[in-house]
Amino acid sequence: MRISWIVLPLMFLSVTGFAQAPTPEPVSDQETELGLAVYKQLRTKAEIIESSPLYDSLKPVTDAIARVAQSRYPHPFKFYLVHDAQPNAFATPGGNVYVVDSLLYFVKNTEQLAGTLCHEVSHTIHRDGVALLEKDKKIEEREVAAAILLGPTRAHIIAIALIGKLHSLGYSRDAESKADVTGSDICAEAGYNPWGLTWLFQDFQNAAVGEIPQLLSDHPANGTRIRTLEKHFQDHPSTFAKFSRDPKSASPFSVPKDAPVVFLRPQAKTDK
Ligand SMILES: [Zn+2]
Repeated sequence: MRISWIVLPLMFLSVTGFAQAPTPEPVSDQETELGLAVYKQLRTKAEIIESSPLYDSLKPVTDAIARVAQSRYPHPFKFYLVHDAQPNAFATPGGNVYVVDSLLYFVKNTEQLAGTLCHEVSHTIHRDGVALLEKDKKIEEREVAAAILLGPTRAHIIAIALIGKLHSLGYSRDAESKADVTGSDICAEAGYNPWGLTWLFQDFQNAAVGEIPQLLSDHPANGTRIRTLEKHFQDHPSTFAKFSRDPKSASPFSVPKDAPVVFLRPQAKTDK
């Protein structure tokens, strides 16, 4: 990875001057309740990055995507960096999207990153996370529907279940393809080449097993997903014909190697 020498002095500075994690949306319904429960769970595990220069690299992309996606969802989209060795991204009900720091090191270009994030906001728009919980036999459907009334303990249990599902093989292939398609519409409208997601699939096919982003390795049917996207692009030439399928046309994306991070500290039990 090529690193500008200009970033090196920054690494020795305190990171407090860098862009920060957003503040969670206040609870107003079932989805924000679930979203906040997941947020608190991740904060307890000290996985949420509070500040880092990585936010400065992420923000222009998330701002552009949120501007387009926001009209399709009633709660504000908020993007949090979390730490994990496995490159990944996942969205929870309520508008929070979690981007694993190692994904920023894995992607080669802005289009691959944008494609992943457009895909994730589409899961939120489609309410896929809520549907996932409702399918869980251990969590009664009425409990999910009544999450706001459950109080902190049960909401907390549901949050742990949801995190587990989002980290493992969660969504059906159909839900994945639908998120790909809606995501490609959002990316195209935001000005990001929607072929980026297919380039990520292809890079992943060539990657060493340990490097495969979990969000992709869960879904061996990437060929089907690519074909579904190609058909969508062909069927809507007025939107997609202007984008090149050649990865050489991409905008390279890189972040400072080993950028410093400050984690959000777990808060006292009385915290709401
Ligand atoms: Zn997905």
